[in-house]
Amino acid sequence: MATLEIRDLHVSVEADNGSREILKGVDLTVKQGETHAIMGPNGSGKSTLAYSLAGHPKYQITSGQVTLDGEDVLEMSVDERARAGLFLAMQYPVEIPGVSVSNFLRTSATATRGEAPKLRTWVKEVRETMERLHMDPAFAERNVNEGFSGGEKKRHEILQLELLKPKIAVLDETDSGLDVDALRVVSEGVNRVRESGEVGTLLITHYTRILRYIKPDHVHVFANGRIAESGGPELADKLEAEGYEAYTKDGATQ
Ligand code: ADP
Ligand code: MG
Ligand code: MG
Repeated sequence: MATLEIRDLHVSVEADNGSREILKGVDLTVKQGETHAIMGPNGSGKSTLAYSLAGHPKYQITSGQVTLDGEDVLEMSVDERARAGLFLAMQYPVEIPGVSVSNFLRTSATATRGEAPKLRTWVKEVRETMERLHMDPAFAERNVNEGFSGGEKKRHEILQLELLKPKIAVLDETDSGLDVDALRVVSEGVNRVRESGEVGTLLITHYTRILRYIKPDHVHVFANGRIAESGGPELADKLEAEGYEAYTKDGATQ
C-alpha cells in the first residue's frame, strides 16, 4: 500500500523583498485508497503545498521530509516524482503550444508506465475516458490548454488522472470555476479513480461544494501555512456553517 508522508514541511518562496516562509510545518499522511480534503482560506498556502510536492523550482524546502513508500521525494526530479506515482492537477494548468492533447497523454503514459501503451487499447481507453468526461473527441487534437475554457482545463486534468492512474493524486482546486454540470462530471471522474482503491487523493479546495460529490475520509483545515485541525467529514459541515474565521482570527492567512 503506497503511503505519502509529509513531516514538518517548511517551504519558502523568493519574493522581491527577500525570502518568505509560506509553509510552516505541515504534517500529513495519505495512503493509497484514502481521500483527504484540505480546505482553507485563500492565501493560506494550499497551492504552495501542491507545488512543493510536485517539485516546482520556485518553492524552497527549508526543512522537513516528504517520502513516498519510504523513498525521499524531495531528492527526486519532477519526472522521477511522476514515475514514482505522484500526480498533480494544477489550480492553473499551463498551456503547451505545439503539443496536442493526444501526444501529451501518450508521452505522459509512456513516461509513467515505463513503456509505450499498446496503440489499439490505448486509443480505445482514451476515447472511452473522454466520453465519460463528456469531452468531444476533436479535443484530442487541440494543443494542451491553449484556448481551453476553465471547465475544459479541469476535465483535461481529470482525463490525465484517469489515464495515468497515479498512486497519490494531488488535486488543487479542481472544482474552482466549474458550473454544476462540469463539477458533477469532474467529480465522477475522481470517484471512478477512487473506487479503484489504488489511488490516494489529496483534494485541495476552498469551497465545501465539491464535497457533496466526493466524500472525503479525512478533512483538514489549512490555515497560516499548516494544518490547523483534522477530522472526519463532519469537519467539512462545520466549515460550511461557520467558515474559516475561527482559524484566521489572528489575521493569520497572510
Ligand atoms: P492558496 O493556494 O491557499 O490560496 P498559495 O499557496 O497560492 O495559497 O499562496 C500562499 C502565499 O504565498 C500567498 O501569500 C502568496 O502570495 C504567496 N506565494 C505563493 N507562491 C508564490 C510565488 N511563486 N512567489 C511569491 N509569493 C508566492
Ligand atoms: Mg488561492
Ligand atoms: Mg491555491
